[in-house]
Order: sequence, then structure tokens, then C-alpha cells
Amino acid sequence: MSETNGFEPKIVAYVCNWCTYLGADLAGTNRLEYPPNVRLIRLPCTGRIDFNLIVKAFEMSADAVLVSGCHPGDCHYTAGNYHARRRWMLFRPLLEALGFDLRRIHFTWISAAEGRKFQQVIAEITESARKLGPYRPYEANGESKWRPAGLPPPKRRSGDDASLRTTARELLAEGKAGVVIGRGERGPVLARKPEDADRLTWNGASKIALTAYLKRKEVRALGKPAIVAGPADLRALNVLEQESQIRREDIHVIAAEGPGAAPPDFSDLDALLQLEPGERMAYWAGEFDRCVKCYACRQACPLCYCERCIVDKNRPQAIDTSAHARGNFAWHITRAFHLAGRCVGCGACTRACPAGIDLRLLNQAAARAAERQFGYRAGADPKAEPLVGVYSLTDKEEFIG
Ligand code: SF4
Ligand code: SF4
Repeated sequence: MSETNGFEPKIVAYVCNWCTYLGADLAGTNRLEYPPNVRLIRLPCTGRIDFNLIVKAFEMSADAVLVSGCHPGDCHYTAGNYHARRRWMLFRPLLEALGFDLRRIHFTWISAAEGRKFQQVIAEITESARKLGPYRPYEANGESKWRPAGLPPPKRRSGDDASLRTTARELLAEGKAGVVIGRGERGPVLARKPEDADRLTWNGASKIALTAYLKRKEVRALGKPAIVAGPADLRALNVLEQESQIRREDIHVIAAEGPGAAPPDFSDLDALLQLEPGERMAYWAGEFDRCVKCYACRQACPLCYCERCIVDKNRPQAIDTSAHARGNFAWHITRAFHLAGRCVGCGACTRACPAGIDLRLLNQAAARAAERQFGYRAGADPKAEPLVGVYSLTDKEEFIG
């Protein structure tokens, strides 16, 4: 018996139709042998490879995954591979924070003329997966004792309550706003009559990001909204405007401070990344074990505004709706990636979670990658182009073989 004890890994390769698939075909017609461990799944373009597919492969017991497509400049659709590269630059740090073994997740460029490269890549990945052994990330053994310090207490806002109430009262009395969305002592306040303005206070409580109310049809039906905005709300408004979800001229903003230039605090994420990948995975497995799929995190988020969330779609069922380890990982990876380059760090998802899961750490993994790799902070500059959705020819690709 070999040192791998007879273990034969299962490898799932998502390949683009126009380059790598033809490279595999060429390897076949040239009789270039490669290990039979790989299952090829042909897709139109690397730009169309949804990250759920990577997650699904591991859910279904893959030991390694390969994504491969056309070299830069060769994309059949001009730029699909550039978009894929940009998204992977954010996706990998997210997987790293979750504790996935990045030695099992590969990305290569293989052209239609590179049958030999295809053969070599598959042989190398198979050999490496054989040595690493079976991969069952969702069955993380052991318990992590690590705990984050948690969300810092909200900063006191410097505005004066009396002038806030006067402004809100006037807007409602003069019909310039149909509703003023703000915070009260015990939760959010949707003031519709001038006398309701007395319930508003700068330093009130709200588990829900106030900007999340802008996506609700019932709120939109109340007429032009005015919103009492803190720094995170202002950044969320900028992102919503970038994404054509709102027009600023349709919203009256009552703000005491600007969008806020203070750098985000990544100290909990730094501490998490000090753990071994297996312990990170054990930490998240323990956290997600408590998730009951209530979706309060989504509802509280200003930037989760899809009319129909992917988790609610069942044709095909991309994410299991029952609350078990695999489906919970898929849900949280998908949600965090949908927020990559968009999350403004308001903390509403963490505050809203009845299970006390610090989701902020996942969103921070992508947010920090955005800061470090692109100097980009979501919502800081309303004129900036959205980070995901554009690409640059100079995007880094040291992780691509
Ligand atoms: S911290 Fe990010 S993901 Fe969470 S609610 Fe705020 S914007 Fe949404
Ligand atoms: S709010 Fe908490 S329990 Fe509910 S779906 Fe989100 S993470 Fe799970």
C-alpha cells in the first residue's frame, strides 16, 4: 500500500467551454494520460462560475476543486475571465477566514492549445489531494474556545435632539417628507405625523440599519422618506446610489456627521486569522450550528435588497433551507460574498442575529481584502465604481496557475 493508503481523491473541475475544455479534449485526442480522479464540468466562462458551485462540490465530498479558463486577453466573451479574477481576489480571503484549506482550491488558465498543461495540472492536483487525504470540512472535529471581542458599543452621535426633532417636524408639517426614519429610545421610529418627531433621538437604538427600511415597499408607499443618518447609514446610501437602488434627490438626509473616515477595526479578524485553519473551521462550525435560518441578518442589512434572495429559490435549490451544517455554511458564504465590496460594516446583521453569531467577521474578511488589494472602502466615495462588477488589467493573479 502507498503512503496515501490507497485513498483516491475526487476532484471537481469547472472549466470554460472555449479554452480549458478544448485543452482537455486535445489532451484526449493526443492520448495524453491523466488521472481519472477528475470530473469535468463544462460551463460557458469562468466569469459565470458561481461560488456556490465551489461550495456545492465540497458539500458533495470533493477533495479538491479546480476552476480553469482562458488566459487573460483570450476570453470568448472579452472579459469574463477578468471578472472572475477580480471576484476570486475577494473570495479567497473569505474562504481563508472560514478556515477552508486553500491548498485544495485551484485556479488556472489553460488554453485550447495546452493539452499538455491540462495533463500536468490534473496530475499535480491529484497528487497533492492524494497526499492531503480526504477533505470533509463541514465535519470539523473539536471545539474552538476562541471568541471575538465582539461589536464595539455604538459611538455617541454629536447631534442635538431638539434641532433633530424640529427639522423632522417641519419636514412632515410642510409635506416635504411623508415619513422620517430615525431612532427612538426603544427602537426604530417611523415618524409620519409632526407630533411623532418628539420620539426621535440621535442616540437611540435600532438593531436594523435604518437604510434597510428604504427597500421596503410599505415604507416607500408612505411618500418621500427623510432618514436620520449616522456615518454607516451615509455609506450605505452611497452604495445604494452606486447600485442605482435610490436617487439621492428622492431622499431627505438628516445627518450630524460625514460618512466617517476612521479606519475599520479588524482586530477580531486578525485574531481569528492567527488560528490554524482547522480551528477556524471548528469555530465557524460551532457558530453556524446555532443558526436557525431566520434570515434576520438579511432583513436588517441595508444592502440585502434582492426581491428574491437566492436562499429562497428552489429551482434549482442552490442552498438548503433547513438549518444543518452544510446548508448553513453555504448560506453564510453566499451572503458574505454577495456583500463583498459592498458591506459598510454597520454591524446590523450581528446585532439582529438571535443566535449571537458575529457575522461581522465574515464580512470583514472581504472588506479587508478590498482595502488591502484595491484601496477600496465600500460607500466611502459615492463616485467610485462598484468594486465587483468592474475589473482592471493589472489585477493581481499570483494565486492563478
Ligand atoms: S455589517 Fe455589512 S452585511 Fe452586516 S448588515 Fe451591515 S452592511 Fe449588511
Ligand atoms: S440572523 Fe443569525 S440565526 Fe438568523 S439566519 Fe442570520 S445568522 Fe442565522
